[in-house]
Amino acid sequence: MPVSEAWHQRLAAARADRQQTHRWRTRQVVANGASESALDFAGNDYLGLAHDPRVSEAQADGARRFGAGAGASHLVSGHLEVHDALEEALAHWTGRERALLFSTGYMANLGVLQALADRHTAIFQDRLNHASLLDGAALSGARNRRFHHRDANDLENLLGRSEYAHKLVVSDGVFSMDGDVADIEDLVSACKRHNAWLMIDDAHGVGVLGDNGSGCVGSTWSSAKVPILVGTFGKALGTAGAFVAGDTALIDHLIQFSRSYIYTTAQPPAIAAATLKALDIVQREPEHRTTLNANIAYFRREALRLGLPLSDSTTPIQPLILEDEARTLTWATRLQQHGIYVGAIRPPTVPKGESRLRITLSARHSRHQIERLLEALTACQREETACLANA
Ligand SMILES: *Cc1c(COP(=O)(O)O)cnc(C)c1O
Repeated sequence: MPVSEAWHQRLAAARADRQQTHRWRTRQVVANGASESALDFAGNDYLGLAHDPRVSEAQADGARRFGAGAGASHLVSGHLEVHDALEEALAHWTGRERALLFSTGYMANLGVLQALADRHTAIFQDRLNHASLLDGAALSGARNRRFHHRDANDLENLLGRSEYAHKLVVSDGVFSMDGDVADIEDLVSACKRHNAWLMIDDAHGVGVLGDNGSGCVGSTWSSAKVPILVGTFGKALGTAGAFVAGDTALIDHLIQFSRSYIYTTAQPPAIAAATLKALDIVQREPEHRTTLNANIAYFRREALRLGLPLSDSTTPIQPLILEDEARTLTWATRLQQHGIYVGAIRPPTVPKGESRLRITLSARHSRHQIERLLEALTACQREETACLANA
């Protein structure tokens, strides 16, 4: 059998497997400025900053001043003043000594875990942690254990039985598919008792939670309690990229040893300029968080009244757990016919039997738009009842 034939068979088998289980993923091409044509309740632009003309203008201006790209990695000649200014602003915002930029959140998580952990380290992760944290643990070669979701007792059991000298506990801040928030206090005390370090990936919390918008950890928990804080810019800040914040020893270590920091071109400086503007808006204009929270409260109140299967989340991520995969697809397709995008999340992203519509709210949504979403959801409900009646 020729070599390429073997490869084609391998790809065809993987495809057949996905297709048979109706889990073949497809992309859709979104028209430029999607939000004009369809209502987006799937994205993570929680404060509407991805569409704020001031942020776009800062990016355009940055590109004119600094060029389209950084031209080199941070350790060579790609670390510009604007990158440095952003790192300083992030450190100040989150109450940390230092912050370090990464090109994406995925790379930040790979880079932190690879630089800190090795096969003499034990990593303890919440079961529902983001894929990038699992991949980072695999890359590091550390012993990786998973504890039950938000279950500090289970975590303490695992920590107590571990004989590793270096223990690292890792959790999402806001869980990306459920919208619930880690109990930082529980995690901090578990780590203290068992002499472990704590890393929180607050990708969905920064910009949204906390008094100054610095997330569920930022201004609330010091780096003595939460030594490693990861945040991203692609969600509430509306741009792209990520940061790690912590004390000088941590950041220096990452600059020396984090391979996804060292061996990659620095983020385009224009993105850093845009992120600086977004950060400034987040700090100066708390009204966007107020609007967002009012939208969340309105959606929850109405969805509850309609008997929709709401979760406990108080964040912009409001999943409706429909359980069944086919049902989830049917609802998502129906919503699309109403011109509304929501995420249809199915295994393997979530456990079997927990398929869901991942609805996300933004400060940018008007009351009228949320009403349209609720009407479309009501139509899905009605159709299902009609089907059952006919069956
Ligand atoms: C989105 C996300 C990431 C990845 O961030 P990117 O900048 O999009 O690569 C990491 N962790 C969590 C929890 C996320 O939700």
